[in-house]
Amino acid sequence: MNFRHLVFLAILVGGIARLAQDVWSLAHTPFAMPFDPITNTFRNFDRSVECTPKKLIHVTTEADVVAAVNEGRNNKMKVRAAGAGHSFQPHACADIMLNMDAFCKVLSVNATEGRVVVESGIRLKNLNLALASFGLAMPQLGLISEQSLAGAMSTGTHGTGLSLESVGAMTVVALEAVAGNGSVISLTGWRLNTSLVSLGCMGIVLRYTLHVVPAYRLYRREVVTPLAHVLADLPQRLASSRNYQFWHIPYSAYVVENHMSLYEGPEPSYPEHSFVVDKYMTHYLYLVVSALTVWIPSLSNPVNRAMPHLAPMHEFIARSDLALTYPPIGYESVRYTEMEYFIPLENANPMLKALYMFYEKFSEVCKVNSMSPVRTQKRDSITLSPANNMDCIIVSLVMIRRNNFEECAKLMQAEVFLPYGGRPHLGKRHFLTKLEIARVYGEEKIVEWEALRKEIDPENVFLTDYTKNLLPLDVTKSLKSKVVFA
Ligand SMILES: Cc1cc2nc3c(=O)[nH]c(=O)nc-3n(C[C@H](O)[C@H](O)[C@H](O)COP(=O)(O)OP(=O)(O)OC[C@H]3O[C@@H](n4cnc5c(N)ncnc54)[C@H](O)[C@@H]3O)c2cc1C
Repeated sequence: MNFRHLVFLAILVGGIARLAQDVWSLAHTPFAMPFDPITNTFRNFDRSVECTPKKLIHVTTEADVVAAVNEGRNNKMKVRAAGAGHSFQPHACADIMLNMDAFCKVLSVNATEGRVVVESGIRLKNLNLALASFGLAMPQLGLISEQSLAGAMSTGTHGTGLSLESVGAMTVVALEAVAGNGSVISLTGWRLNTSLVSLGCMGIVLRYTLHVVPAYRLYRREVVTPLAHVLADLPQRLASSRNYQFWHIPYSAYVVENHMSLYEGPEPSYPEHSFVVDKYMTHYLYLVVSALTVWIPSLSNPVNRAMPHLAPMHEFIARSDLALTYPPIGYESVRYTEMEYFIPLENANPMLKALYMFYEKFSEVCKVNSMSPVRTQKRDSITLSPANNMDCIIVSLVMIRRNNFEECAKLMQAEVFLPYGGRPHLGKRHFLTKLEIARVYGEEKIVEWEALRKEIDPENVFLTDYTKNLLPLDVTKSLKSKVVFA
């Protein structure tokens, strides 16, 4: 056993102790995400959102949804469906909330045409399993698959890959929803594009028709690379594999790269599910190390610098969904909060340099204790997508249980993301005013979105105060005179 093994062992033991503490505390506060079974309180992933609906309805049929919407309209109560509570904003909170967990059937599969119809509450992880059983797969996924299908679609969930659009843009062909008047509507074409990132405001989605692809495997290679090498040939690297991403490690001169390419060779010799340590070594190392820095914050900086030297190189071949996403084990321990910005691809290099200078300049204020993903996305034509008409590099700020997240995130937003033309992920944290949202997303996009929203929901059954404060829906006509466009 050499020194590196000893350090790794020590970190592992500390991390396991930390995980055990979390399991113990969970056992003493029984709570199924996102709804507390006793109080009905909805809590999101990082516990930054907590709301208790006046009425919680566990949906099992279309009739349940229609009745809930009619009840909301007749009693002037706001209605929202909840997914898995993985948004970092209160998009799902309302007077009447619908738990869609049991509304999750796969209704039809046409493997030849690559079409499936599924109920909206299905969790992505269950959808992936169902698709695999038919020899099919999602062409794109984000970092996890805990989300509900509708939750992921409604906030524009993305993965990575310069030739790939967001998960919704690549898969959704049509949807059916219950509109504000209780009728069932079908949305396709431009109406679908306008409503897909709905933030919960374009009716309660019942079913999606998805375009899926034949099952595929990915060869995934994780490698620690000097940051300088990445910056030196950034465009080539970003385009180097089907799903390329790297993990930026604050205060370190290294990044962890993930290259993921289609694999069409013979079956791998190890069993498909033999993940845990061997395939996600870096990920688990990150979990335990990050958990330690929550205990001892002053460790953040040295630990981040040491991380790349401890992280072993790894490669494996796996079913696409297993290669693209991380398993959820340990999230309770490293419950984090996140802000994420989409930056025009042409600004990738200067923006990343500014980011690294930011970390040096503000290391005292920020003390960031986590790696953050850097990903890419091809432009799409979804109205409220942050990648609308813009190929992007996507950068996050991730912090684990840190009280000064807001202070640090506001600084980073102002110093790094906005100057390079960034648009925030609306499912994650950001600190923009309504008018700033209009400026970065485009006034005409807000107008387009609001016109369809009004058509679907003229009585504002789904329009909560949170959304009214987020988007300048009421002032769009006079925006031009109020906003100074850069
Ligand atoms: C650990 C973690 C990893 C993540 N990774 C990524 C990632 O890789 N890429 C990325 O882009 N994002 C990522 N996210 C963000 C996440 O994908 C989105 O916030 C997504 O919306 C969460 O889905 P959900 O099912 O939890 O929805 P919720 O957060 O519960 O709800 C989101 C919205 O969907 C609406 N909604 C839900 N169901 C319906 C329905 N049936 N009809 C109408 N509206 C509905 C809700 O009302 C709400 O407005 C991550 C989040 C976490 C916590």
